[in-house]
Amino acid sequence: MNLYDLLAGGFPGDRAKPAFLLSDGRAVSYAELEAGAAQVAGHLVASGVVPGDRVGLQAEKSVEAVMIYLGVLKAGAVFLPLNAAYTKAEVDYFVHDAAPRVFITDAQAFRAEADAADPLAETVARKATDLASLIYTSGTTGRSKGAMLSHGNLAENALALHRAWGFTPDDVLLHALPIFHVHGLFVALHCAFLSGAPMVWLAKFDDAQVLAGLERSTVMMGVPTFYTRLLANSEFTLERAGHMRLFICGSAPLLESTFAEFEARTGMRILERYGMSEAVIITSNPLEGARIPGSVGYPLPGVDLRIGGGEETGVIEIKGPSVFSGYWEMPEKTAQEFTADGYFMTGDVGRQDPDGRVWISGRAKDLIISGGYNVYPKEIELVLDELPGVSESAVVGVPHRDFGEGVLAVVIGQSGQAGDEAAMIAECRRQLAPYKSPKRIVFVDELPRNAMGKVRKNLLRDRYKDIFET
Ligand code: AMP
Repeated sequence: MNLYDLLAGGFPGDRAKPAFLLSDGRAVSYAELEAGAAQVAGHLVASGVVPGDRVGLQAEKSVEAVMIYLGVLKAGAVFLPLNAAYTKAEVDYFVHDAAPRVFITDAQAFRAEADAADPLAETVARKATDLASLIYTSGTTGRSKGAMLSHGNLAENALALHRAWGFTPDDVLLHALPIFHVHGLFVALHCAFLSGAPMVWLAKFDDAQVLAGLERSTVMMGVPTFYTRLLANSEFTLERAGHMRLFICGSAPLLESTFAEFEARTGMRILERYGMSEAVIITSNPLEGARIPGSVGYPLPGVDLRIGGGEETGVIEIKGPSVFSGYWEMPEKTAQEFTADGYFMTGDVGRQDPDGRVWISGRAKDLIISGGYNVYPKEIELVLDELPGVSESAVVGVPHRDFGEGVLAVVIGQSGQAGDEAAMIAECRRQLAPYKSPKRIVFVDELPRNAMGKVRKNLLRDRYKDIFET
């Protein structure tokens, strides 16, 4: 059971159909994609790559990069994608850790070189438990760890999503995500391939190209920043969006205000889902049925989800067909992250309604302990986000002489309106217990984010570490 064969099984019967619709008007057919993957696989095998070997790719997003991904699977090797923005020192760490047999930095050159090899006709057989990909966690804190995802993990998740989101060959997926991360690589590509659908293929999120691309698409997948950027553009209108079947969002929390503004503008409710490198997609709001802002929906079929710790709110623990087998060469770290009865502790804090619906309130490691009290940043952020002039907030704990950690809010505010720190703190104290209320509020134009739009709270904690000490 090689994941490649499952995906290729979804390719259209007529392989002349497009797989990629490029912004310059050209298209790349499924026949070309399949041939490219076979050439890459043949080249890898001829170069001595054997099943289980890692093949690294650090390159800009391109069709050739996708051919390399598929070729690596077909050859039975393990795909190791790396963010093109990583520095040499960062790459050295990954290369040392994962020890890839081949490391590709120029996808086009490698694809061209592969033409000299005999294409690989037969996909190399793999077991469901064999490794398909090594995904290094984005590492907003601590050392990056390689999540080991098997052919079975990825296949099961691909099938579940394809079904849950109702993909058909008539869909056209707008793809503006990076492909070094599970969202753009597995979630988006696999849904398109399993339905033999074309993708509007954009190198990155660019307002004008996305607006033009929407005209040809039926489904868009994005991170919350895609949606806030679309909404900030007056050309994003009902006329532009009304024909779309589905807008999906994930990788970071979608603000309720974004959800509401999007619905007011387009009449459509964004479908939010929740996932992570270690398990791909875990929960999703329903295609048919209520999509509720602030909730990430229900566990996918086969996912067993529970809240650890015996309280209503606690760390989300999961078991299921897409949950990874562990971190690459870190058996101790792996053991620490699983419960004795085999659930993976996600590190996300949340709660679950009796009918199964899941709500996320933050990351366990973002928990603030101030004066001995636990403070969940999300609760304070929700209050701040409702204040006039505030468009987004991030609450962190930083060292405080009396309290151990002091609650600090960093807010993006329209200058003038949100400028009065004392009044805002007073309003928070009206709505929240004093120990939860921010002791300081800092106004910024932008919050630091990683490539997937997640706020890098570790940078905020570092930047403001002395704010209560001076
Ligand atoms: P990564 O492994 O880089 O994909 O990061 C996974 C983390 O992103 C999860 O553990 C969550 O903290 C966060 N995340 C993903 N989707 C959502 C969502 N819809 N709402 C809140 N957090 C999310």
